[in-house]
Amino acid sequence: MTDVRNDWTREEIAAIYNSPVLDLIYRAATVHRQHHDPQEVQVCTLLSVKTGGCPEDCAYCPQAARYHTNVKVHKLMEVDEVLSAAYRAKESGSTRFCMGAAWREVRDNRDFDKVLEMVKGVNQMGMEVCCTLGMLTESQAEKLKNAGLYAYNHNLDTSEEYYGDIISTRTYDDRLDTLGHVRQAGISVCSGGIIGMGESHQDRIGMLYTLSNLPEHPESVPVNALVPVEGTPLEEQPRVSVWEMVRMIATARIIMPKAMVRLSAGRVRMNVEEQALCFLAGANSIFAGDKLLTTPNPEEDMDRQLFQTLNIRPRKAFKDAEQPAVVFEQIPL
Ligand code: SF4
Repeated sequence: MTDVRNDWTREEIAAIYNSPVLDLIYRAATVHRQHHDPQEVQVCTLLSVKTGGCPEDCAYCPQAARYHTNVKVHKLMEVDEVLSAAYRAKESGSTRFCMGAAWREVRDNRDFDKVLEMVKGVNQMGMEVCCTLGMLTESQAEKLKNAGLYAYNHNLDTSEEYYGDIISTRTYDDRLDTLGHVRQAGISVCSGGIIGMGESHQDRIGMLYTLSNLPEHPESVPVNALVPVEGTPLEEQPRVSVWEMVRMIATARIIMPKAMVRLSAGRVRMNVEEQALCFLAGANSIFAGDKLLTTPNPEEDMDRQLFQTLNIRPRKAFKDAEQPAVVFEQIPL
């Protein structure tokens, strides 16, 4: 059994990342089998509960107000609407429901109170509930925890060195502070990044270095391939190859053996064989639904076929939790 280490050096990570790809996959698959059931893949649904109009300038994001994209601004959804969507996601096999809001940070206002209601409602349905709402203070993280939040997503996106080329409206330290608040509140941490934004291999290694040297590894590490969107500064970026995704996934799997490694944005462009390669390299979580916030994602039917073809099954909710945050009751909708 491989040890869980928080003292990886950049050189060690680079040596893994740069190893011959079939060796890398073999090693990652071995680590994966020591810590996870390889037949199981977690299925998460992501819903954008507040879309567009964001004051930040993330170069990849069509929701930033300053870029001219096709994204239509939508104020925070009503609690009932969100709970109906969560119910449908559960019916179609999702065990984790993530709600995303295009905010710079959470403010202590009525919108946040509504989000807390959404969290409570989804939790009561027996799903793992996750949010991605921007920066959080300690007390906001605690409120979310008390409402039943299971996980919080806050991506590092890239290396500390390259961060300023992608986002200028906040710092890497702001990111790490929020991750610290989430961890302190006892919420499961979901944090990863995006490849294909013009970063170097060293930057990819740098991001994995930061994640794997956090005092505790994130429970979930999304690996995204950029989906270039017209109107954003990264609209002309070329597509990353599946081998680059495989290298990232396999390296993340080896250095953070217990984490769920999530094959996220960019999956829509992969065929079954490419997705299978990512699962072999240690990915064990995907997003379901036809939209990933605002970018396309494979449709449900295709995912059902994918699971059948590969003979894999969706992972049950709360598998790693000692006990769920509340006793479940079915909410009539
Ligand atoms: S990634 Fe998030 S914070 Fe950045 S512009 Fe998009 S919605 Fe705003």
